Amino acid sequence: MARPSSRSPALDEGWTRRRRLSVCIVTMSKDFAPGGTGPHRSAYNSRMLQQRTLKSITRAVGVGLHSGQKVEMTLRPAAPDTGIVFRRVDLPQPVEIPANAGSVSDTRMNSTISPGGDPGSPKVQTIEHLMSACAGLGVDNLVVDMTADEVPILDGSSASFVFLLQSAGIVLQDAPKRFMRVLRPVEVRRGEGASLAWARLEPYHGFKLTFEIEFNHPAVDATGQQVSFDMGSGKYKSDIARARTFGFTKDLDLMRSRGLTMGGSMDNAIVVDDSRVLNADGLRYDDEFVKHKILDAIGDLFVVGHPLLASYTAYKSGHAMNNMLLRALLDDPSAYELVTFEDERKAPAGFAELAPAW
Ligand SMILES: [Zn+2]
Repeated sequence: MARPSSRSPALDEGWTRRRRLSVCIVTMSKDFAPGGTGPHRSAYNSRMLQQRTLKSITRAVGVGLHSGQKVEMTLRPAAPDTGIVFRRVDLPQPVEIPANAGSVSDTRMNSTISPGGDPGSPKVQTIEHLMSACAGLGVDNLVVDMTADEVPILDGSSASFVFLLQSAGIVLQDAPKRFMRVLRPVEVRRGEGASLAWARLEPYHGFKLTFEIEFNHPAVDATGQQVSFDMGSGKYKSDIARARTFGFTKDLDLMRSRGLTMGGSMDNAIVVDDSRVLNADGLRYDDEFVKHKILDAIGDLFVVGHPLLASYTAYKSGHAMNNMLLRALLDDPSAYELVTFEDERKAPAGFAELAPAW
């Protein structure tokens, strides 16, 4: 379908409205005779699944979980095929850091990126919760201006990022959305016995994740240890986004002595002592710990630069292993291909709809 290649935001808004209306018409016209003519019929036959960006600029101020530093983060709409690009605007010369598997430079406590993956270059830390929100809402293109080196932790989940993105509005762009489809199983593993951990990607027409944790800790063991989530369910916002990061008081002194978790508190994390959760309000989900690991994995995997079409299964994985898995995938060109859907009806269920507004 021919469309203007550049449009004003007002036109974008108009287009989105029209498109939603036409989705509605299609849904309500299942018994419409195929092969008909006219404008609706041609739209029905060839509507591609499009990339998405923000409708307007939005901003958040907070502190970094590890650095404890105050940071202002500005999310800006970006052109098709930009991907998610972070920009350190506090430096004398702004430095751009595209989020891709090769730019990941540190995965010990979070996912940190630097230009070319060089740990000596300017960095942006703790990108995973924002990346997870982008993947959850299907946002492909974004420029993220940062006034410090760490994404604000906000409430420790991705719910605040989801709120920010939806408040700014999400628009469709004039370019096909590109997925990375996994064609054969790829697996990474480490250790054995009690230290065993692994993560695997397998072909799947959609994106689903199954994660199992085992912390050998009474407060964590008392919650759900395994969860499966299918992105096609459209329930990212309600079922995953509110799960917060967590930390153990026994690790705090050591981490703080290394300059880590300087911004952490019960306002932005679940804090667990030797036997129980210390937050006065308890947990947001019965299985909040493992759900946060799913939230992290969604963000870590989106760093590949495209939404994956795959089934991800993991046991005690984390940022490092998730990145190893992406690198193992990219190391084998026969294990994946980039695909678009010229007819969005051929896309996996749930991928064509915009997430419902708050
Ligand atoms: Zn996390």
